[in-house]
Amino acid sequence: MKINDIQFEELVSVVKRVCSFDSACAPAIEGAPFGKNINDCLLDFLALGKEYGFETENVDGYAGEIIFKGTDENLSLGILGHLDIIPADPKEWKHHPFKGEIEDGFLFARGTMDDKGPLVACLYAIKLLKDSGFVPTKTIKIIAGCDEETGMRGVKYYLTKKTPPTISFTPDADFPVIHAEKGIMHFEVNCGKLPCCIKDIYGGVRANVVMDLATAILADGTKLETEGLAAHAAIAHKGKNASWELLQKLHEICPDHKGIEFLANKVCDISGAKWGIDAKDNLSQLTCNLGVLRVVDGNLIATIDIRFPVSYTLEQMKDIVRAHTPFDVTFDHCDNPLLVDKDSFLVQTLLSTYNQLTNSNLDALVIGGGTYSKQMPNCVAFGPSFPDEEETIHMPDERVNLENLRRFCEIYMEAIKRLSE
Ligand SMILES: [Zn+2]
Repeated sequence: MKINDIQFEELVSVVKRVCSFDSACAPAIEGAPFGKNINDCLLDFLALGKEYGFETENVDGYAGEIIFKGTDENLSLGILGHLDIIPADPKEWKHHPFKGEIEDGFLFARGTMDDKGPLVACLYAIKLLKDSGFVPTKTIKIIAGCDEETGMRGVKYYLTKKTPPTISFTPDADFPVIHAEKGIMHFEVNCGKLPCCIKDIYGGVRANVVMDLATAILADGTKLETEGLAAHAAIAHKGKNASWELLQKLHEICPDHKGIEFLANKVCDISGAKWGIDAKDNLSQLTCNLGVLRVVDGNLIATIDIRFPVSYTLEQMKDIVRAHTPFDVTFDHCDNPLLVDKDSFLVQTLLSTYNQLTNSNLDALVIGGGTYSKQMPNCVAFGPSFPDEEETIHMPDERVNLENLRRFCEIYMEAIKRLSE
């Protein structure tokens, strides 16, 4: 089904309406666990669902549901998105982050791609399906979480109150469809006391970012600095880790220091092969990123991000790392991998819908990042970003290409129809 110009205008105006809320997470107030703005946004989103003639439910301000009743009570299709955003400072934007300005075929506002735009497109898609007389077999539930960006408490709370839908997708990542997501491990390695020839070592901001600047201060006051290129740890090969060159130099200066030797010879390798932790399977292989170097209480601490293949469990991977590391390891944020069978009805229906409607012949994706779908059973990520589309999420002047908004709304409509009929 195609969207006509009048419908498209209405779609753009409702995306603007939902994106007008500055719905970043804020301190709780009564009845609004993530603050007033996100709560107002949730109430407005549910009101929009009512205007379209659907039943709605507010799950205690943590999440909301818009329900399109199907004929089979036991089957349901979930569409999981989020209404919270990361903060947007108007001073850093050329276009106001909450006014929905349109220029050169783009609609600018925080949330237009992540994730209000695609979530509203899914709501609008089920409105058009209902208006066309379509009656689903599965009950369709649009589930709007209110805390995706700061801990996923919205959907976690939802799952304590509700049974998850039979199958779900989340419009919060990339097309064509992501059926596998690697596991994630963040941990610290304590590489021991600094040698006396080095006063300080530092570099990096977060485990999951490739270090773009690394610095060491030698005992005689000499400053060594190496430059790299930042990138997300899930795609570490697109960056250049500044610590590698620095650690080689330091290893030459202090060849006897075991910690620096370990980092220079084993950890400075994206594949993990030099370390001996290079897990792989037929879908993907491990990646390793040395994200942060710091001296804490005289000890050199390395913070590392590892993305591991879906056929390994978190516990297996922890054992492998411990067995190959002659220093203390402290695990921090960790996430199991996600795998939904590529031949399943869910993945195949989403993939074939995308390929047919866009005239392409792409395969389901395996990614190193984690999406919202890890929170919900039987869920995969599906759009809204098209392959090779410029990414603006979490950046100033986040925007949606209006032609793409129309295309992804049509794709969602067809996919929802096929998954729920
Ligand atoms: Zn998101």
